[in-house]
Amino acid sequence: MKFLPDEIEDYAAKFSTKEEDVLAKLNRETHIKIMLPQMLSGHIQGNFLKMMSHMVQAKRILEIGTYTGYSAICLAQGLNENGKLYTIDINAELEDMCRRYFDEAGLNETIDFRIGNALEIIPNIDEELDIVFIDADKLNYSNYYDLVIDKVRPGGFIIADNVLWSGKVCQKEHDKDTAALHAYNVKITEDDRVENYLVPIRDGLMVARKL
Ligand code: SAH
Ligand code: CA
Repeated sequence: MKFLPDEIEDYAAKFSTKEEDVLAKLNRETHIKIMLPQMLSGHIQGNFLKMMSHMVQAKRILEIGTYTGYSAICLAQGLNENGKLYTIDINAELEDMCRRYFDEAGLNETIDFRIGNALEIIPNIDEELDIVFIDADKLNYSNYYDLVIDKVRPGGFIIADNVLWSGKVCQKEHDKDTAALHAYNVKITEDDRVENYLVPIRDGLMVARKL
């Protein structure tokens, strides 16, 4: 899945702060060993998330869909002192790798990593959230939004990844995932509780700010 021509992607990376060693190593290991490495957020999107976390001076973040931990580390790096990031993934096979990298990034104490189905775990997270990053199974995006909206503070953000789905949302015929993502985009745009912008970074980020 290619989002931008290589030349442009390389140029953007060249004129961005360099990818940190631990993230570059995690990026490489994911590409060598793990299935579907294109799911990893990558340098530019990862640092965009880190910037968002800095900008809102986040104290509490929830991530839904950890995978190998790249976006979790980026978001956690932007947290305020004593901040905390919860991240949830259903795939226990990646747990060791995630924990190894959280440790190497010095974020063991900062990241609360939970293994299981996010639909069951989210109701147990009793926090006022500054940012939620939705990046798990596409069919449940709208359910995740409904589960988190009341936990997000006014002025907080709900950011959902892959909402362009490689452009498939623009086509006439939608498969199940595309239909779910399109329904999410419609739902957020019609929801008066948030203002939202679909930012075409990488595969599309729906950025919604709670009013
Ligand atoms: N945020 C990561 C990529 C996440 S990929 C990054 O940017 O680097 C999507 C992840 O969602 C996968 O690891 C998958 O195991 C997880 N997932 C899918 N369904 C889930 C569910 N019901 N609950 C929790 N995690 C789920
Ligand atoms: Ca993603």
